[in-house]
Amino acid sequence: MTATLIDGNALSKQLRADVATRAAALTARGHRPGLAVVLVGDNPASEVYVRNKVKACEDNGLYSSLDRYPATLSEAGLLKRIDELNNDPKIHGILVQLPLPKHIDSHKVIEAIAPEKDVDGFHVANAGALMTGQPLFRPCTPYGVMKMFEAHKIALTGANAVVIGRSNIVGKPMAMLLLEAGATVTVCHSKTRDLAAHTREADVVVAAVGKRNILTADMVKPGATVIDVGMNRDDNGKLCGDVDFAGVKEVAGHITPVPGGVGPMTITMLLVNTIEAAERAAANA
Ligand code: NAP
Repeated sequence: MTATLIDGNALSKQLRADVATRAAALTARGHRPGLAVVLVGDNPASEVYVRNKVKACEDNGLYSSLDRYPATLSEAGLLKRIDELNNDPKIHGILVQLPLPKHIDSHKVIEAIAPEKDVDGFHVANAGALMTGQPLFRPCTPYGVMKMFEAHKIALTGANAVVIGRSNIVGKPMAMLLLEAGATVTVCHSKTRDLAAHTREADVVVAAVGKRNILTADMVKPGATVIDVGMNRDDNGKLCGDVDFAGVKEVAGHITPVPGGVGPMTITMLLVNTIEAAERAAANA
């Protein structure tokens, strides 16, 4: 292996220690940070994510509440609960686990969250503020990736960066953050004509697609930094990313594994965003 591994578990541990210190300081001043997690339905993957988020809060001194609703919950019922959480002073961050059942309009639900409690950073006010460079919250996954670059001193100014994927929750905000950091950014997607032609020129590649082996060794410039956001299952049911890790690690300069890469960072940045929300609320109290 030639690439240096970017270890999301190790970096998360460091960042969570800082979260725990800040949570303790806020709690001592009577402002215990609180995250509300809302789960509708019984999607097994969502159950795991939600459990991990609640546990991460408990482990680091944050208060958390978990609302579980059956898939039959009405949109009005969910909006009513969000309104209550918006007005609950114990709660500084609200996370509605996606996807929601089909009869509920997730845009409407996200827009109902108070922007100052939108720790996922998906509200249009925060997405717009990200575009103009002054967001209250950065979406957790791309924010975590930026922390990985920072920790490994990956030079972004002037770098060619390729983001594969253009979703609102990963690809687009990732591209914005890289742009803000001074990279020259190309966003590729399912309609891109020649993906490899783009990735071969890239100093940094972020793969956020949800398809195994979308990035193989022949598509990577020697020494490039490769970040794998994807979460897929291989033929044996084992968790794997979008990147052909075995091949790409022989070419790349830095690489993230799956599991143990971006995944733990996403939850860590949710904690960081919740702490920031609580610190802002305490400053205004
Ligand atoms: P998404 O909304 O499904 O978006 C996937 C993107 O990939 C789309 O923009 C799509 O293009 C593009 N795409 C599909 N096929 C492609 C191809 N053959 N070549 C190039 N681009 C292609 O997914 P998402 O929510 O962004 O998530 C992406 C992956 O990251 C998933 O595996 C998800 O589970 C994972 N994820 C991980 C974390 C974490 O914490 N590790 C967090 C969030 C998501 P079009 O727009 O043209 O359809």
